[in-house]
Amino acid sequence: NTIIIAIDGYSGCGKSSTAKAVASRLGYAYIDTGAMYRAVTLYFYRHKVDHLSKGQVRKALTSILLEFKFDEATKSSHIYLNGENIESLIRQMHISERVSQVSTIAEVRHFLVAQQRLMGTKKGIVMDGRDIGTVVFPQAELKVFMTAQVPVRALRRQKELEGLGQQVKLSEIINNLEKRDLIDSTRQESPLRKAEDAIEIDTTDLEFEEQVKKVLELMKE
Ligand code: C5P
Repeated sequence: NTIIIAIDGYSGCGKSSTAKAVASRLGYAYIDTGAMYRAVTLYFYRHKVDHLSKGQVRKALTSILLEFKFDEATKSSHIYLNGENIESLIRQMHISERVSQVSTIAEVRHFLVAQQRLMGTKKGIVMDGRDIGTVVFPQAELKVFMTAQVPVRALRRQKELEGLGQQVKLSEIINNLEKRDLIDSTRQESPLRKAEDAIEIDTTDLEFEEQVKKVLELMKE
């Protein structure tokens, strides 16, 4: 049986970096579900899919193939859309600005959740997102819900983007984080919320190593 660690929370709380490190230390697979919503958003953007048209959305989804492949150079998994490595393209601000709208669409969520549930092939997986503990894997062995204060989250996100060669103003990042949190937590289809049995970790005053240690310790209990 595959062991599942679900990590949910608001944007920019350190979910993916923590999840990645926990997975690598435990020898588990890491799955970034945000990358999947971003990939669909990139496809819709490129093909001018009107997300309000059910017909267009359904048709587009039949043309989307998503895969994760391990990248030796960065020692992390990259997402591929129809054979193209789009890992860095999906981190651009114009995708961040559109992704939460696309993520409200029930058809998109059903399409991705079905794939996420089939991904548990290794001995264990760490999956991060917004609905992993509530919808994708309600039976997960460990559920973590990460929070942090907005200025801290924005600064971390700014540094991350800098690492990708993007200079973005702090005000623009704060605006984007707050907008996404609002849309993500008020949408009709599986809104972002803490699962009842999830353990909350506030990362505002935590160093990265401490975050990783906390999750690993919870796993031992
Ligand atoms: O994790 P990341 O910030 O890359 O996610 C981008 C967006 O994708 C989120 O703001 C949210 O709108 C959507 N998302 C989601 N459900 C998930 C993961 C991401 O709705 N499981």
